[in-house]
Amino acid sequence: MKSRRSFIKKLGLSVAALPLAGSMVKAATLESNADENDQGGINQPIVISTWPFGKIANQAGWDILSKGGTALDAVESTARFVEADLSQKSVGLGALPDRDGFVTLDACIMDEKGNCGSVMFLENILHPISVARLVMEKTPHIQLVGEGAQQFALNNGHTKHDAPTESSKKSWEDWKKKNNYEPQHGLDNHDTIGVVALDKNGNLSGACTTSGLAYKMHGRVGDSPIIGAGLFVDNEVGAATATGTGEEVIRICGTHLVVELMRQGYSPANACKEACNRIIKKSPKYNKDMIIGFLALNKKGEYGAYSTKKGFQYGVYDNSGSVLKDAAFIEKE
Ligand code: ASP
Repeated sequence: MKSRRSFIKKLGLSVAALPLAGSMVKAATLESNADENDQGGINQPIVISTWPFGKIANQAGWDILSKGGTALDAVESTARFVEADLSQKSVGLGALPDRDGFVTLDACIMDEKGNCGSVMFLENILHPISVARLVMEKTPHIQLVGEGAQQFALNNGHTKHDAPTESSKKSWEDWKKKNNYEPQHGLDNHDTIGVVALDKNGNLSGACTTSGLAYKMHGRVGDSPIIGAGLFVDNEVGAATATGTGEEVIRICGTHLVVELMRQGYSPANACKEACNRIIKKSPKYNKDMIIGFLALNKKGEYGAYSTKKGFQYGVYDNSGSVLKDAAFIEKE
């Protein structure tokens, strides 16, 4: 797709002169907005997700999008795929527990109309993202927490499952021996599946689900279930999701900032870069052991990502296939 765009640019052809499909015509107008870290993405539909597990899970979203399904169904399905994998240590019931041994889960979802739902500090439920969707669709509220969220899930067809898994419990027991009951932000004790998609009707939706930080304080909630922090969608502009140290994302209302920057004309990658820079420059608590990444998709189908530090990867599934990409980053090693 990139070569097609440079071809258009090089020849200086007017858009009207080219026999392009609707989405391609739209893409040709994006040239002035593009950044070297924005990756193609002029296809519609498209689903993009955080981390290598997101690349694998994108298949579930693509199966829906490619048959003409909605972005909302696609993001929920992608998120559920990772939640169902009990070998994942940072999402769903297979995840590492908090410092007291409890697996507590956070998730949120948002559609193209601005509807949204969220669950936080939810225990023993396999699919927090689907409970978040139920909150969105069946209640007058946006956020349900803890026991109330669990009761709501049970009342709506979800069942209780055991957690932590034997392997996560063993990791926690090892952690207790070596650590001083201190919650820590590191490079290897977290990760969220954040997913945003654009469907064939041009509608955007997003979903985000995580167990948060391993060995966090009991009751801690990060950015992931907070609309405007871990996830934000504005169907006129774009959608963004975040991963990494949630406290830093909350402090700057990270994904809301990314979407607002795109509204002002920033490309997805540049919007994500600016959000990372805000954290690095302004946070009283940021340190170089933290990684914070943003992933964004605009209404026209361009996407991009940036992280504070090397290591953030994301998966893209569009008409050209499924790929894993390295996000650009700010801090040099
Ligand atoms: N953002 C998540 C949290 O702070 C964790 C992560 O994505 O790494 O709970």
